[in-house]
Amino acid sequence: MGQLHGFLFPLLAQGHMIPSLEMAKLFISRGVKATIISTPFFAAPIKETQESGIDIGLKIIKFPSPESGLPDHVVSLELANTDELVSQFGKAIAMMQEPFEELVRKFKPDFIVSDMFLPWTVDSAAKFDIPRLVFHGTSCLALCVAEQMQRHKPLKNVSSDSESFSLPDLPHRLEFLRTQICPEEFEEHESDFARLLKQVRESDWRSYGVLVNSFYELEAAYSDHYRTVLGRRSWNIGPLFLCNSGNNEGRGHRGKKSAVDADKWKSWLDSKEPDSVVYACFGSITSFTHAQLHEIGIGLEASGQDFVWVLRKCENKDDEIEDWMPEGFEERTKDKGLIIRGWAPQLKILNHPAIGVFVTHCGWNSTLEGICAGVPMVTWPLFAEQFFNEKLVTDVLKTGVSVGNKIWRAVGSEGVASAAVSTAVRRVMVGEEAEEIRCRAKEWKEMARKVVGEGGSSYNDLSALIDELSKQ
Ligand code: UDP
Repeated sequence: MGQLHGFLFPLLAQGHMIPSLEMAKLFISRGVKATIISTPFFAAPIKETQESGIDIGLKIIKFPSPESGLPDHVVSLELANTDELVSQFGKAIAMMQEPFEELVRKFKPDFIVSDMFLPWTVDSAAKFDIPRLVFHGTSCLALCVAEQMQRHKPLKNVSSDSESFSLPDLPHRLEFLRTQICPEEFEEHESDFARLLKQVRESDWRSYGVLVNSFYELEAAYSDHYRTVLGRRSWNIGPLFLCNSGNNEGRGHRGKKSAVDADKWKSWLDSKEPDSVVYACFGSITSFTHAQLHEIGIGLEASGQDFVWVLRKCENKDDEIEDWMPEGFEERTKDKGLIIRGWAPQLKILNHPAIGVFVTHCGWNSTLEGICAGVPMVTWPLFAEQFFNEKLVTDVLKTGVSVGNKIWRAVGSEGVASAAVSTAVRRVMVGEEAEEIRCRAKEWKEMARKVVGEGGSSYNDLSALIDELSKQ
């Protein structure tokens, strides 16, 4: 057999594209040919990777915005900022099946790695008799919780929003409220999204296996549970961004231009003591209400700590009015706070020695980046499977504390008071408990680097997968 060739087809969203590009580079570094399938909007970082001398393939499919009724500018999930647009976005993605299959017919890859939200790719793979691997882009723990939720349907026995429930069979007792659970995924629903999630589950079972951006040591009990109790074939091959640590440029801005000059953020952080600065960033999709943004500002200031606060900006909205900002906030905090409006070089900031805590929405990429930077966290999950990832940090690794959000909401999140923000930040920054949390968090930094090196658990899992695929 010649060189093994994989098609990688990520969801059209930054949080899915970033690890997929890292995964492609990882495959290439292990002698496998990798081609990313995407749209013009996401082509830039892949072209940059090509220009840096990495032989990565790229096949572009036109995104069917007009055909699906989407406004022209909604070419990425982050830009679909209403429930209706998200639903239309899902339909547009499904329209990519035909051109995708054309590419498979023409280039005959040996396997496909595709995003969980592209369930129809399992049919495409079956048509051409090649394996399809699913990439969920989340933790093993979240995969296990989601599956046990489907099997046990615990919400049926919950009678009020304040009553917590846990799931039988899991390695730890993890408690949730029903308000923290995606209703369309785990309750009876008739929406388009609920139907898509059903297809996702079915296509998962028909797939060859699951690739996980995590490492065995981090979630050993959940990795074992996933494989032996839930019967899933899976390979832990992360942390993907550490597998390619040679490419520092890519590690910095990760596909989007940074909104702040390196000189500015770096010299600001250089002037601070080690472990003394709070870094607050909520990923690429989150949207807060103005009232909630106001509370975050007050809470950060009241914590008395220095902070870097990333304010997400919508594309094409440079002139957004920040009338929610607490009166005189920027002036008062000009020495203690650095606000980044737009895309932050998160990986680089997290790894700066001055960062003492990461206030995160628990998107899996951010969570893993925080863990690998050895930084304690204040967890503030908002939607998707983020409430599950939170538990890994607060209950299993015990490297962070929760801000206490109780409401799962994808658009316009709110409900956390400023006092909860400042209390949680102080708990992980000041005192004996903070010291213990910091010690535990720092242990993961070195471990994460070992597993991706030759002979490490993630290195070996990938070797086993490549071996298996070569024999297909
Ligand atoms: N990210 C970044 N700068 C930002 C915001 C996000 O580099 O200003 C990166 C972050 O490092 C992570 C990804 O975008 O790799 C976000 O993925 P995650 O799974 O954490 O959250 P999502 O955006 O999917 O909700």
